[in-house]
Amino acid sequence: MCYVPDMGNVTSIYIFPAFVFAKCCIAASKLPHYGSYMAEMTQERLSSEIEARRDQLIALTQDLIRIPTLNPPGLNYREICAFLAERLAKSGFSVEMVRAEGAPADSAKHPRWNLIARHEGANPGECVHFNSHHDVVEVGHGWTVDPFGGEVKDGRVYGRGACDMKGGLAASIIAAEAFIAACPDYRGAIEISATADEESGGYGGVAYLAEKGYFSPDRVQHVIIPEPLNKDRICLGHRGVWWAEIETKGRIAHGSMPFLGDCAVRHMGAVLEEMEATLFPLLATKRTAMPVVPEGAKQSTMNINAIHGGEPEQDPDYTGLPAPCVPDRCRITLDRRFLIEEDIAEVKAEVTALMERVKAQRPSFDYEIRDLFEVQPTMTDQDAPVVRTVTQAIQQVLDTVPEYVVSPGTYDQKHIDRIGRLKNCIAYGPGILDLAHQPDEWVGIDDMVDSAKVMALTLAALLSP
Ligand SMILES: [Zn+2]
Repeated sequence: MCYVPDMGNVTSIYIFPAFVFAKCCIAASKLPHYGSYMAEMTQERLSSEIEARRDQLIALTQDLIRIPTLNPPGLNYREICAFLAERLAKSGFSVEMVRAEGAPADSAKHPRWNLIARHEGANPGECVHFNSHHDVVEVGHGWTVDPFGGEVKDGRVYGRGACDMKGGLAASIIAAEAFIAACPDYRGAIEISATADEESGGYGGVAYLAEKGYFSPDRVQHVIIPEPLNKDRICLGHRGVWWAEIETKGRIAHGSMPFLGDCAVRHMGAVLEEMEATLFPLLATKRTAMPVVPEGAKQSTMNINAIHGGEPEQDPDYTGLPAPCVPDRCRITLDRRFLIEEDIAEVKAEVTALMERVKAQRPSFDYEIRDLFEVQPTMTDQDAPVVRTVTQAIQQVLDTVPEYVVSPGTYDQKHIDRIGRLKNCIAYGPGILDLAHQPDEWVGIDDMVDSAKVMALTLAALLSP
């Protein structure tokens, strides 16, 4: 339901409901002193508050899945933000909807809306922020359930975005509501954001908000991103990315007399051969100390995303018939993932050096390298307060020592680190990473409940009065 009838050009909306604290706070507890009677009591109380909300957690996840926030093109962003705003306002949060006006892909047809909700404790203190992206990737083929039905079956909720990451978003909301109910006189603040476009780089979402100061260290001190990294793992960061396009240049001529032209596709063949002979073996020797999962991503990697030479297939007049021409252009797109130990300038220099080696062997060879996109690697220190606190909470709730991991691909932590300058940030949430973007995506209900308990206990540890 949309509670704002018409937003027109308004880019920011504030709602300040009265705070209503339904229950009394439990006695002050200091969670870091584990084993104490008070800590146990806190855990039990939070646990039962969350168990009591199990049905709400399922229903909220279903409601979120039923708003198809497909990206591209960026559908229903305003609807999902308005839905969450209404929900969180009822729980005592002040809510703000922010449109990333002017950000890449923001348009009148597909505006990039974000929601930021904040709940103030009884006394000043630190702010814990849960950031989830609300967009989901395309449906794809192979589904046996309705991708936007939110079907519940065998202890799982199914749908596009169930695992990545509407289940995590729902878990963080339930965790915050349960904690506030158990401990209304907490100190500090809790923020929950639902942001746009993570799946396409986060420029209309976290990057925009970070530039506006929403993730500045004087406003927010701890950030948890409930991406689906499994409930017993803490993700400290991600590798870097460099996307680039390489074009080889030739000269057009009649295809029956190729000796009169210069074939750009053959030049590209020489480039690919040189990559196989020297670059891929070099990348395999570059290993990282980052705990990247899976194992194969513990080294530098490179994917060749696309290759095209000859007639442009995107041309609306393209017939598919062969052209009697020597191709004068050939392009490939590179997706190079690099390690925290590498410098991006060195990553680019390796490719330039390779192109120069090819050039030295081919008299007429010429080329161009164009940067498309880059992301620096990021990794939060294992001693950071949010890492230590979530570690203890996982040990308490799941009775296991969490695994520290680093993601092979990137997520919004890059913007929080680079633009927001906030280092105390991790990804922690329910859901199995491998299920993200797959057909029949699901999130386990018990996993959501368990990770909500971990999140609530984290709040108790960081914000106890
Ligand atoms: Zn995600």
